[in-house]
Amino acid sequence: MKKFLKSGTMILLLGSLLAGCSSKNELAKNTPLTEKQPPAETTKSSELVVEKGTPEWDLQQITKAVDDNDKALFMSYQNEENVTFFKEQRRWMDEVEFKKRQGYTVSVKLYSFHQENDAIATVRFSVMMSHPKLGSTTNTVAYQMIKSGDRWILNDVPFEKMVSDSGHLTVYYPKGQETAANQTFKDATDIVDFYSKKFNWKPQPISIKIYPTSNEVSATVPWLALGGWNEIGESLKITTALSNTIFRFLAHELTHKMVGEMANDNATIYFQEGFASYLEGTVVRDSSGQVTYEPKLAQEKAAKAMEASNSVKTIAELGTIDYTDPEGSMYRDGFLISNYLIETKGLPTFMKMLGYLSKFDYIDQRSEHKMDTCQIRTLEAIDSTYGPVDKVSAEVQNFYVKGSGQ
Ligand SMILES: [Zn+2]
Repeated sequence: MKKFLKSGTMILLLGSLLAGCSSKNELAKNTPLTEKQPPAETTKSSELVVEKGTPEWDLQQITKAVDDNDKALFMSYQNEENVTFFKEQRRWMDEVEFKKRQGYTVSVKLYSFHQENDAIATVRFSVMMSHPKLGSTTNTVAYQMIKSGDRWILNDVPFEKMVSDSGHLTVYYPKGQETAANQTFKDATDIVDFYSKKFNWKPQPISIKIYPTSNEVSATVPWLALGGWNEIGESLKITTALSNTIFRFLAHELTHKMVGEMANDNATIYFQEGFASYLEGTVVRDSSGQVTYEPKLAQEKAAKAMEASNSVKTIAELGTIDYTDPEGSMYRDGFLISNYLIETKGLPTFMKMLGYLSKFDYIDQRSEHKMDTCQIRTLEAIDSTYGPVDKVSAEVQNFYVKGSGQ
């Protein structure tokens, strides 16, 4: 699940309206636009013969694995002992394959290999992505590589870590990002504490990785551009490019983690993004710094969203929409439907609907990759909690479009 950064005007407009997504402008101001481009392609004739057993050979194998969708080869260059990173890299490769099926082109370039000693090195890992409708980006992250047998393999960003006394919360941060790490640690502790009490959530251990730029987060997923990320089985990731967005990003992504755990990861992306945008907009720090819940803020945002466009998609329509939707309907319309159900039927019933989904087994895939199955299961949860789905969709139209909600 993600926090979008996209060039579509609609999203930008929505971003500021729903305050759901961190608006591009906000981050762009602080993100160096001149990301150093990977070195240009070498021409065939001048191509160097790369010897097996050299770092160049290993970098070339990783590039080739991505081009050929060769998961086994790609995973053979990931550090298996770094368990969470290894899982994230497996999901990274699944995402590349999924994105190519959605019409993206995805390729990587590894360069600036710098050996620190016989066993440790760093490398720049650039991901070039392009989609006919959504644009293209080059996102780069600096990874550590370690020597394993006769080859150099990837071993995540060389993170420092901050662990809570209970060992339940760990924040991973690059050297020099101590201030952002402390803020992330404090905000995450307070939000998890608030969500646990309010929603009776007993969280699994929480691993949060922070990155100075959205560019770096995006390269590790991979995604065109995003500010935050969460999927069951992977670390929660945010950019800390702007300190005033850290709390909001965490409120959003921790909602995904909570819903994922409570629904055995069977909730659709429109309820995940809708409810995450809802809590991101209503869970704030009050004047004394305490975390609090302000439902009125959601009603204000809903009114603004309806000013921008007087329509709401039906639940059936939303079930067919994935993240290539240029309007980002899973955010806006997902938010409006979640807000309607919470405002008219109450938050406890909404959580009961999500809880109903825990009866289904867990599917070890990213949410977008199993969205059809999640839709079938979520329709059953809606029907069992609120009654016929079409009736609920009609009520939502009535509430927002025909203005019965005003
Ligand atoms: Zn999200």
